[in-house]
Amino acid sequence: MRFFSTGGQSPEISFLKAAEQGLAPDGGLYMPTEFPSLPLPFDSPNSEFSLQQLAKICSYPFLDEDLSSDDTDRLIDDAINFEAPLVQLSETLFILELFHGPTLAFKDFGARFMARLFSAHRTRSNGDLVILVATSGDTGGAVAGGFYDLPGVQVCLLYPEGKVSDLQRKQMTTLGKNVTALEISGTFDDCQKLVKQAFSDQKLNNALNLSSANSINIARLLPQSFYYLHAFFQLKKLTNQTPVFSVPSGNFGNLTAGLFAEKMGMPVKKFIAATNRNDVVPQYLSGTDFKPRPSIQTISNAMDVGNPSNFSRIRSLFDGDDERIRKHIFGTAYSDEQTRKKIGDLYQEFGYIADPHTAVGVLALDQYREQSGDDSPAIVLSTAHPSKFADVVEEVIGREVEIPERLKKAKEKEEKSIPMDAGYDSLKEFLTEQYG
Ligand SMILES: *Cc1c(COP(=O)(O)O)cnc(C)c1O
Repeated sequence: MRFFSTGGQSPEISFLKAAEQGLAPDGGLYMPTEFPSLPLPFDSPNSEFSLQQLAKICSYPFLDEDLSSDDTDRLIDDAINFEAPLVQLSETLFILELFHGPTLAFKDFGARFMARLFSAHRTRSNGDLVILVATSGDTGGAVAGGFYDLPGVQVCLLYPEGKVSDLQRKQMTTLGKNVTALEISGTFDDCQKLVKQAFSDQKLNNALNLSSANSINIARLLPQSFYYLHAFFQLKKLTNQTPVFSVPSGNFGNLTAGLFAEKMGMPVKKFIAATNRNDVVPQYLSGTDFKPRPSIQTISNAMDVGNPSNFSRIRSLFDGDDERIRKHIFGTAYSDEQTRKKIGDLYQEFGYIADPHTAVGVLALDQYREQSGDDSPAIVLSTAHPSKFADVVEEVIGREVEIPERLKKAKEKEEKSIPMDAGYDSLKEFLTEQYG
């Protein structure tokens, strides 16, 4: 399969090449030239597939130029070594828990898949690949954990000072070895801008093998389609119906991955784009122009994104037809106050402890149901374990949220990060010295 750039000015290349480049030379994002029609029985209510089986079937056509099917199998078995359970709360409300990976973030799917793809190839060529990542919280830990101690790869993380949770920061700053954390005095948008500047700096790219692991990277997106497929077949078996998916969104990689799965043949009744007050996309869906804005800080901080980079992919998937996008995707936004209340309501009603991002997803589903009258079964993607946002959650539900063992470990280790201003010159100098 070949991949083109949404910028329209770069040559078509293979999956691995597109993954290594991250952003295309013309500043666009890579997209498949065509979507395969997956050989799966989407109409059958009796199919049972494991997450790993679906991941393999979905990956073969994408990786056909780069890996044999045996190598693809190995990569999946190694990367996707945890589950994504579908938890039923009521007859029509299902929570897809995506936080059972090693860093308890759904980003483990993308990060682990990409890390293993890169590492498998680097051992055969020279020079370390330098993965440059801007993170508003969860990406950093997942990428750091995914690449940690893999040969041939260096990881450099940029996070906004004071704007990530304690645990999120610890997951980035306590690893060491091939993982370096830069604490930027600025916002997530500043971090993202710095990374974009570095990628478009030709001189720097000639000196270093730079690559990205943000959700702009096609290798992060593809593995997120796997769990949509898995959830689809589970719901099909339980209800024999076509799901509504509500997706708590920031950069819109997760929702784009759902659209990928749909393009490959998976029926979807509706997608819901759920955001916090960073509502650039819901605004657009309600009929206004797409207008990026500076991000606002909220309690669902992994979604504090003012300029969602995957939006150009969504446009490309619909051939730029805004009306069709607005028809297929329902979007709404919520305040911190509404989010807190929803966390409380879910605990009261179902005894379920949701993190703030998941709560935003449920809020949006409620509103969709109210406005559309559609009460068919719906799947809310749960993107983080509540213990990662324990301060917010515990205050609302009035009891302690247990921290899983693997997070406790990060809590005790020593932190190491390098403070830096948000000017590009500082980053450039650092990268040249550290990796040149
Ligand atoms: C990254 C993240 C999101 C947003 O996902 P996008 O793909 O950027 O839209 C939502 N919730 C959590 C917990 C995240 O870490």
